[in-house]
Amino acid sequence: MQYRNLGKTGLKVSALALGCMRFDPNNPELAEQIVDTAIAAGVNYFETTRGYIAGKCQHLTAPGLKGRSRGLIVSGKTGINAETTADSYRAEIDLQMQILGVDYLEFYQVGWFSLAMMEFLTKKGGALEALDKARSEGLIGHIGFTGHDLPENFTKCIETGIFDSFTVPYNMLNRAYAPTIKRAGALGVGVIAMCPVAGGMLASPSPQLQQFISGGAKTTADAALRFVLTNPDISTACSGMNTLEMLRENLETANNFHGANAEDFRRMDAILDELHSLGERFCTMCGYCKECPQGVDIPGNFHLYNLGKVYGMTDWARAQYAAKEAGKRADACIQCGKCEPKCPNNLPIMKQLAKVTKTLG
Ligand code: SF4
Ligand code: SF4
Repeated sequence: MQYRNLGKTGLKVSALALGCMRFDPNNPELAEQIVDTAIAAGVNYFETTRGYIAGKCQHLTAPGLKGRSRGLIVSGKTGINAETTADSYRAEIDLQMQILGVDYLEFYQVGWFSLAMMEFLTKKGGALEALDKARSEGLIGHIGFTGHDLPENFTKCIETGIFDSFTVPYNMLNRAYAPTIKRAGALGVGVIAMCPVAGGMLASPSPQLQQFISGGAKTTADAALRFVLTNPDISTACSGMNTLEMLRENLETANNFHGANAEDFRRMDAILDELHSLGERFCTMCGYCKECPQGVDIPGNFHLYNLGKVYGMTDWARAQYAAKEAGKRADACIQCGKCEPKCPNNLPIMKQLAKVTKTLG
């Protein structure tokens, strides 16, 4: 296992991290086995929160951790709102440690965070006071946040200096946070990339995405993970794994990975930029054409078409198209023409929908 700097915390984090939010609640033995196997293979970062898996995430993670507080980077997480006080937040920290059966959490994340919530976090008697106190008492080591705010807002959040890390989605199909990640690298803030395989989407075959990895990739998931890890500003790729097979495959990638490489990363990023702009020629997903009186999901259909045509994920796109509600599919278009004048890119929507039907239908 390769270990990377977790920002400037001084911690070395495994290139592959285990997101503990996808365990099967009906199979606690498997969850324990996954955590155990991951630890034995050198994985040292575990992302947890009380709310996941209908409140069972940390109960399912605890048996595998076996009380190991030190040496592993276990992360707890709680959201905040206007009513959150230092006392209520501290009660959550204590409760999550109790459920996990540990007396120390290396990381605590402010969950579902956004720039607008900064005032709730930093107010007098607010959550930050609880986090600072817990850190000074040696109960937690570092503070991070997770969320889905605009990249420019998250850049402002990391520039406050409050946080040691942040956790955001980042993968070959979603690089929206790339500017924030770059800024984090410059500031020494750790970056935990979640959804490295786009919630399983990148587990489906795509010859295009596999071949642009140096030396080729065995599978699309392999390519996806390697792309994330090639970015030198990423500390770890946190994947929500719920089978031993998935864990083994990801471990194989992480173990055979040769390390971040700025030049290779720039090359791959440029190829993805090109693919992205190719896709945008078909539709930029702006949504201005909504709502179709027939209920056709115009951008949704074009998105699937792009995944198939541009990214080579044809099997996945066809399966998703088939699973779409019939009235939303491209073939439900009656060619009334009402949507076309609304498209800022003057796309021939009707013609393109016919193409979608032909390709994916
Ligand atoms: S042309 Fe088709 S997609 Fe556009 S508004 Fe009419 S039915 Fe809907
Ligand atoms: S308005 Fe045009 S570019 Fe925007 S989502 Fe609709 S088809 Fe795509």
